Amino acid sequence: MNCKVCNTELNADYVCPYCGYDDSILTIDLDYSAKHKNVLLKKIEKISISADIFKYNESKNNLEKTGTKSLFKQDLDGLTCYKGIAKSDEWIAHFDGSADITVKYTFGGTKKSVTTSITPDAGEGLWYLGLHINEELRLEVGLCVVPVSGNGSPSSMQLATVDLDLIA
Ligand SMILES: [Zn+2]
Repeated sequence: MNCKVCNTELNADYVCPYCGYDDSILTIDLDYSAKHKNVLLKKIEKISISADIFKYNESKNNLEKTGTKSLFKQDLDGLTCYKGIAKSDEWIAHFDGSADITVKYTFGGTKKSVTTSITPDAGEGLWYLGLHINEELRLEVGLCVVPVSGNGSPSSMQLATVDLDLIA
């Protein structure tokens, strides 16, 4: 049996290890699980993403990490990311290989952080990140590609799905 809120497989005591939903509670409220989901989403605040930035080193002919930058000008909240896809204000440099991104957020006021590696394979273009919280309450990190030249529309692809820490 899986959790009605986030689809995680439930253990014997029917309490979801991911989102804390207790399926053993008897209720006549048909919206009980939807309300639980809404409460969790409202507790997710101040989502921000930072990524490594690189600079080309001519003498060594390679890219060197010079720091990190924040990809969204404003912090996002859980409900916004659940209802749509938030596209980053800043792009990350195009290069071959993978990039580390760090997702920071608060849950019920407690600071949380998770780092994941993404490996875009999108050819030429600037990379913007798209963020979305899916029906299973996982954070999807996608890529929005804006072509350097021409009037092509952004394409997007999913790069990573990140578990959030929803147990306060
Ligand atoms: Zn759950």
